[in-house]
Amino acid sequence: MPDSLDKELDASICPSVPPIGDALQPHGCLIAFDSDWQSVRLVSANLSCFFGVSASEALGRRPEQVLGADTATALARTLAIGAPGMTIPSGQADVASRHLYVSTRVSGQHVVMEVEPLTTESHDLPGLGHAWSTRLARAGNLHELHAQLLRALQALSGFESCTLHSHEYGGDGMRRGQEGMRLEPFPSTVEHRIGTPLMLVDSRAKPVELLAIPGPLPAPSPCSLRLPPPRLGGWLKGRQARAALILALHGTTPGQSLVVCRDRQPRHLPPPLRHLLQQLVQLAALRGALLHEKRETKHRYRLLHERNTKLQWLAYTDPLTQVANRHRIEQVLEAELTLASRNGKHMTLLLFDVDHFKPINDTYGHEVGDRVLHQVARVAQTQLRKSDYLGRWGGEEFIVVVPGCDLARAQELAWRLCQALAGSTIEPVGQVTASFGVAVSQPGDTSRKLVQRADRAMYRAKRAGRACVRTQEIDE
Ligand code: GH3
Ligand code: MG
Ligand code: MG
Repeated sequence: MPDSLDKELDASICPSVPPIGDALQPHGCLIAFDSDWQSVRLVSANLSCFFGVSASEALGRRPEQVLGADTATALARTLAIGAPGMTIPSGQADVASRHLYVSTRVSGQHVVMEVEPLTTESHDLPGLGHAWSTRLARAGNLHELHAQLLRALQALSGFESCTLHSHEYGGDGMRRGQEGMRLEPFPSTVEHRIGTPLMLVDSRAKPVELLAIPGPLPAPSPCSLRLPPPRLGGWLKGRQARAALILALHGTTPGQSLVVCRDRQPRHLPPPLRHLLQQLVQLAALRGALLHEKRETKHRYRLLHERNTKLQWLAYTDPLTQVANRHRIEQVLEAELTLASRNGKHMTLLLFDVDHFKPINDTYGHEVGDRVLHQVARVAQTQLRKSDYLGRWGGEEFIVVVPGCDLARAQELAWRLCQALAGSTIEPVGQVTASFGVAVSQPGDTSRKLVQRADRAMYRAKRAGRACVRTQEIDE
């Protein structure tokens, strides 16, 4: 029966039942019952094409009077066990396919039933689902995952194009995703009106009205027969899309959230196939979230490592001279002393103090004094090996820990340092010297005793006229 005649009949037979505001895509039909399956409360005007009962006739009737007793009982059972829907034979000549897919859901005080033709022969959907799920689950990065998902959607839907869209912000132009996938932003004005999933079968098909018995109505969303909101319709039209399927990648990385499959020809995806596509998109979203989290964790770990290194450097370094601070050099000293005594080897300690440093401060000021200290450390560092540790002991005093070295070689090193310092010019002061004390570890030594011996030797160097080296006394 043509839609117009159907409507006329509806109006004449049941004038008290006005069409309600919403309209649906005509490839399917919708019926809503009250929650205890007593009577039909709302129908789409094309009901007769599917069940041979006109919309106005159906309103107020019992479900079995419209659907037949077997279908009504089976549907109630389907709903009770939480299944999304069931397939029933189509008895109507108006519907080209031999079967209908009927899905049911509870919406407030109503049971809503959507009916769609099962237009295509179903392939081995579980098998296909398994194959594509495996590929998605193996994707090693987001780029690979999204490429695989688009490939799956295109292969299974047969739509001309499947694209991934960001709806993080509006505006035109392409945007590069975090791992190179090109994303077309979804204009924010359109995006806010999409309740996914959404399927447009044929943008040129005339919508059908809904008729209802006065009273509370079920919410039409999320109904797969609903029409795209006007702005989305306009957006699709601008892209020559007559058919579209829009699915959301919930829970994935920000900015990568909508998949849009489009075709210039009308296309209907039967509900089981649509469910499979939805499932794949959900799987991709989960995998995406996992990959994103993995990458974030890696990034956070790297940052943490960098910060730890920086913190350690700050904790161990004297800010003025950039050599080890007192805390660090004490640690090193302790560790090297333990190692030396365990291995029965020597370790030596050089302690040096800048000569007449106070007059430098007094003459040139503290800032120059600071620069001199920095420079003294630089000069000393040039004479040392990687295995030697230079540290600032305090004020204008420095320490060098020299592992695996006897007194004679340590004395040589001290003279080298002493001469290097005396031989270099530190502007604007000119020559700067230091006095050196050298001590060697001995059995039963402590770091405190070792430093004391080096300190006494250093004072002997001061008394001997400065800019020289003295070693610990033999009996010390
Ligand atoms: P001596 O040859 O006997 O070692 O004489 P000196 O003048 O070097 O020794 P003294 O102990 O009299 O003076 C050390 C000075 O070092 C005093 C102190 O103000 C200065 N000083 C200590 N730490 C710093 C620092 O971080 N920066 C500057 N500019 N001066 C410092
Ligand atoms: Mg001094
Ligand atoms: Mg001093």
